[in-house]
Amino acid sequence: MAHFVIIGAGECGARAAFALREKGFDGDITLIGSEPHAPYERPPLSKVGLAGNADPKFIAARESYEAGKIRLLTGITATSLDTAAHAVSLSDGSQLAYDRLLLATGASARAFPDAPAESPHIRSLRTHHDAVTLRAILQPGKRLAVIGGGFIGLEVAATARQLGADVILVEGLERVLKRGVPEDIAHLIAARHRTDGVDLRCGVSIESLTEQDGKAVIRLSNDEVIGADLALIGIGAWPNIELAEAARLVIDNGIAVDDRLRTSAPDIFAAGDCCSFPLAIYGGRRVRLESWRNAQEQGTLAAANMLGADEPVSAVPWFWSDQYEMTLQITGLADGAVTHLRRDLGEGAFILFHLDAEGRLLAASGIGPGNAVARDIRLAEMLIAARAHPDPAALTARNVKLKTLLAA
Ligand SMILES: Cc1cc2nc3c(=O)[nH]c(=O)nc-3n(C[C@H](O)[C@H](O)[C@H](O)COP(=O)(O)OP(=O)(O)OC[C@H]3O[C@@H](n4cnc5c(N)ncnc54)[C@H](O)[C@@H]3O)c2cc1C
Repeated sequence: MAHFVIIGAGECGARAAFALREKGFDGDITLIGSEPHAPYERPPLSKVGLAGNADPKFIAARESYEAGKIRLLTGITATSLDTAAHAVSLSDGSQLAYDRLLLATGASARAFPDAPAESPHIRSLRTHHDAVTLRAILQPGKRLAVIGGGFIGLEVAATARQLGADVILVEGLERVLKRGVPEDIAHLIAARHRTDGVDLRCGVSIESLTEQDGKAVIRLSNDEVIGADLALIGIGAWPNIELAEAARLVIDNGIAVDDRLRTSAPDIFAAGDCCSFPLAIYGGRRVRLESWRNAQEQGTLAAANMLGADEPVSAVPWFWSDQYEMTLQITGLADGAVTHLRRDLGEGAFILFHLDAEGRLLAASGIGPGNAVARDIRLAEMLIAARAHPDPAALTARNVKLKTLLAA
């Protein structure tokens, strides 16, 4: 009987395992994960999950793996990969032979240079375990220092304020969310954080990050010294490529795959945060996405292609972030955009459409309370997928429904 092995029991690996069964695969499936838990959702770790729940939000109940005859190995790491022998070695000393393999190893939080690696006061946030440690200090009378004004840092800052902790956030660049978020939206988010009492400092670099007397100590470039009960490092993530690299798979900003999610080694696929892939709607440009929906969709697509479907990646990138009462949604990739058009949606919500020099819609970014931008972002996504060149006047006119542009 064929044996399909999935390394990485996160969003992507779990979705792939279930998708294999849903698509009729009746061979053996082994899903291997380093973490002690069954696969769980990461987005809640910086949002409500951090505020309330003691357990992670599992992607599926344990019984679902049993029902689907998916052998789930938790707390076990794949330590090496022999592509010629089609075999994987595991941290418990065992070896597994595979017919097809999926690498869904995800990403790890980037460490701050020269900061103590094991300090309880200097942490990053990637796992449920990280979230539990962080949650313990998010209470009145405690001080959190967030290093980096990216999505995770900002979401944690919002959650920390909601739980009553003092928050200072230090960003080295001149504004938060410099990567991928338009200035208007970033300013709005920064203002919201300041209104809620976050001491937000931009354009300040950090000279050193150390631990002293049970505190994190941050020395800024202006010689100011900040003490905090915990410093949360939120300076991005690196793809987990070590296993693939040691097995001599091609690496290019992640495990390089083609548009079918095939790696350079026979019978090995890669998907989710760990891989870079060519995106046809942007001229085959190679990208690596760190996004929940991408991990889900690529898990499902990898499963189909492991079964021989031969389907290309076609999804438009999509990402969301929740901070306070606001939700930000971004679809597409805005690099190369020269025109940015605004459509107001009421209740403080708006969308920016990003167009290239020929008027093609490349991306849309929207922000507003709750779900205010969801429907229009979904329509923008469909316009992007259709490579549409929408009428700029119609994009900005609130009384023109985006749906009509799609029909056009
Ligand atoms: C705090 C936080 C908040 C987020 N919020 C959002 C959000 O609001 N919106 C959004 O779109 N995205 C968000 N994301 C991103 C989203 O969660 C990721 O894109 C998604 O989890 C990627 O899934 P993945 O399966 O590719 O990788 P991961 O979820 O990283 O899973 C990979 C798994 O593989 C395991 N692994 C790695 N190497 C091995 C090995 N050799 N052997 C065995 N196991 C291994 C890892 O331990 C891990 O459990 C957030 C991420 C974090 C951390």
